[in-house]
Amino acid sequence: MPDGGGTARPAARLVVLAGPTAVGKGTVAACVRQNHPDIWISVSATTRAPRPGEIDGVHYHFVSDAEFDRLIAEDGLLEWAVVHGAARYGTPRAAVEEQLASGRSALLEIDLQGARQVRERMPEAFMVFLKPPSFDELVRRLTGRGTEDAEERDRRLRTAHVELAAEGEFDATIVNSDVETACSELVDLFGQAGRSTGAADTQTTTHDIDQ
Ligand code: 5GP
Repeated sequence: MPDGGGTARPAARLVVLAGPTAVGKGTVAACVRQNHPDIWISVSATTRAPRPGEIDGVHYHFVSDAEFDRLIAEDGLLEWAVVHGAARYGTPRAAVEEQLASGRSALLEIDLQGARQVRERMPEAFMVFLKPPSFDELVRRLTGRGTEDAEERDRRLRTAHVELAAEGEFDATIVNSDVETACSELVDLFGQAGRSTGAADTQTTTHDIDQ
C-alpha cells in the first residue's frame, strides 16, 4: 500500500508507555482506551491472580505459570518481566503485529524492564516515559491507593527511585499532573512518533523530581 500519497492514512505506530510504580500509567492508558478507539491497547498476559472486577481477556490474560512458560518457549511474547518480584507479565507478540499490520496504532503500558526489551526488538517503537510531578506525589499516590502494605510500599518506592533515573532512555517524557492532560499529550505523540529519528526527538520537561 502506498504511503506517500495525499490520501494515504498515517502509518500505524507502536508507542510504549512506561514509568515508575503508581505514576498512573494504567489510568492514562484507560483514558486513551475510552476516548481514542482508533488506538489499540495491548492486553498483557500475567501470572498474577485477577483482582476483584478484573476480567480475563479485557484487563489481562490471566495465565498459569505453565502457560506463561509455553508463551516464552514459543517466542509468543514481545517482552516479558517479573514485576515487583512477584508475578510475570508479558506482551503477546502476535496481537501487536496483527494490529500494526492492519494499520492500527498500538499502545503498550508496561514496566521499564519490558520497555527496554521492546526498544531492542522493535527500534521503531516510540518510547514514552510517564513521571510524577514530584517524588512526594508518587509517595502520596502509592500510599493513597492502599493496595500494598508498608513493607511492599517501601520496596516499590526504592525501585521507583531507580526507575526515575531511566527517563533519559526515552524519546519523550510526560508529567502526569493531570490524567486528561497526560492522556491528550500521549495521543499527540502518536502523530510525532511517525517522524521519530531517535534521540534527536527527545523532549525534555522542566519539572524536577524532589530528591
Ligand atoms: P498490576 O499488577 O498493578 O496490574 O501491574 C503491575 C505492573 O506491571 C505495572 O507497572 C504494569 O505497567 C506492569 N505490566 C503490565 N503488563 C505488563 C507487560 O505486559 N509487560 C511488562 N513488562 N510489564 C507489565
